[in-house]
Amino acid sequence: MRWSVFFLVPVGRGATLDSVSPERADAVMDWLHRVDDESSFAVKTTEAPQYRRVGLENEGVGPADVDPERGPPATRPSVRAGDGFAFVNHVGDVTPSGFLPEPAGNVREDDLVEVYRESDLFERLRDRDALGGKCGACEFRRVCGGSRSRAYAVTGDPLAADPLCPHVPVGYDGPVPDRLATDGGDTADRTVD
Ligand code: SF4
Repeated sequence: MRWSVFFLVPVGRGATLDSVSPERADAVMDWLHRVDDESSFAVKTTEAPQYRRVGLENEGVGPADVDPERGPPATRPSVRAGDGFAFVNHVGDVTPSGFLPEPAGNVREDDLVEVYRESDLFERLRDRDALGGKCGACEFRRVCGGSRSRAYAVTGDPLAADPLCPHVPVGYDGPVPDRLATDGGDTADRTVD
């Protein structure tokens, strides 16, 4: 059995909801790792690949321990929009995810496998070195890479930094995303029980 926990992407009806803050999201993911460790069922997240980063940090793997070109040892890359996943909507449009409604083709005219393998959008989404902002500079980008759907929903750019992540790569001095709407103030020191 598996518990799959969705983190908000502000599209569709979700656009009317307030997100938790990045710090609160990290605290929730830390709690989810504890649930995963202590339960008979597995826990995974959807639209929150930084769950991998939180898990590695809990195991004592910090940014200095990660080869940014290869990623942490013995860690599978995450499945993300356009990378291990494609979505076909009700009119046949092929998009990287149901939460990233940018068509790269249509199954009425295009071969689904070709769209997945060769379309410019899908190829760019799979290139972790093409990511922008702090996700592109991040030591954990090969196992995380951020939610491309959330980056697209908030900025219009599917390669932008994921605004739900508080991690700042070592030595990174570029822009950080604006904070998402929060759950009632700074929650950096709150714990999830
Ligand atoms: S900065 Fe981006 S790539 Fe790095 S952990 Fe956060 S979401 Fe993942």
